[in-house]
Amino acid sequence: SSLIRTTNLQRTYQMGKNTVQALAGVDLEIERGTFVALVGPSGSGKSTLLNVIGGLDRPSSGEVWVDDLELGRAPDKKLVSFRRDRVGFIFQSFNLLPTNQAWENVALPLMLAGRGRSERRKRAEHLLDQVGLGDRADHRPAELSGGQQQRVAIARALANDPVLILADEPTGNLDSRTGRDVLLLMQRLVREQQVTLLMVTHDMNAASYADRIVHMRDGVIEQIEIVERTAEAVA
Ligand code: ADP
Ligand code: ADP
Repeated sequence: SSLIRTTNLQRTYQMGKNTVQALAGVDLEIERGTFVALVGPSGSGKSTLLNVIGGLDRPSSGEVWVDDLELGRAPDKKLVSFRRDRVGFIFQSFNLLPTNQAWENVALPLMLAGRGRSERRKRAEHLLDQVGLGDRADHRPAELSGGQQQRVAIARALANDPVLILADEPTGNLDSRTGRDVLLLMQRLVREQQVTLLMVTHDMNAASYADRIVHMRDGVIEQIEIVERTAEAVA
């Protein structure tokens, strides 16, 4: 069944006398366990769509369902718990706390969820293992490379076992080799953990790692591309 479903989703912004239609009627369905890339020119509505699906912004009209929740009509309190318990966020600039160790950064969502310190440490170590950083748990962000910092951020996004991970230009600050490793890691996590990953990118090469490429233009979906992958490429 689909995890995300939007119908005639619209988001307008009032800029003085002008109305900007960031989303002009988006109909989208995303199956569970899919890696989806959102591409399109600057200003086409990618970030707005990501923010609405992540419960960070409200639609002006239309419906947006994630799981069993219609985000447009959900009360604020519901949106807060939705973001905290069911969504993981990954950013271009990693957004790690500089004075905290890698494991503490990963454990931050667990702290907000009220977990005790020893449980947090144990789970953070397990998550760091999963992203290949089991030996860096006590490093601070400045002691890690860009690729390693983004992998810490990915581990943090997984901490509460979310149904959905939203990534805004996750490879935007990485060189192409490091970016490739991060994309392969995200691909593997989607395959192994049944998580659904929605990634905004302007990089068509990055988008090619996804299962579906959603092309946006002027606030609507122009085309959805299904990425065919040979068995060899998946191995
Ligand atoms: P993209 O991520 O594809 O670059 P955005 O979703 O950021 O596109 O923006 C879509 C349109 O909505 C743009 O015209 C942008 O200027 C406008 N927009 C986005 N956010 C706001 C805002 N908070 N206030 C006013 N206009 C906005
Ligand atoms: P990656 O491919 O994961 O980005 P790099 O090849 O950039 O890794 O870095 C190799 C090693 O150099 C890493 O293990 C990391 O510990 C170290 N390193 C890279 N950048 C920094 C930095 N800014 N400060 C400290 N150590 C760094």
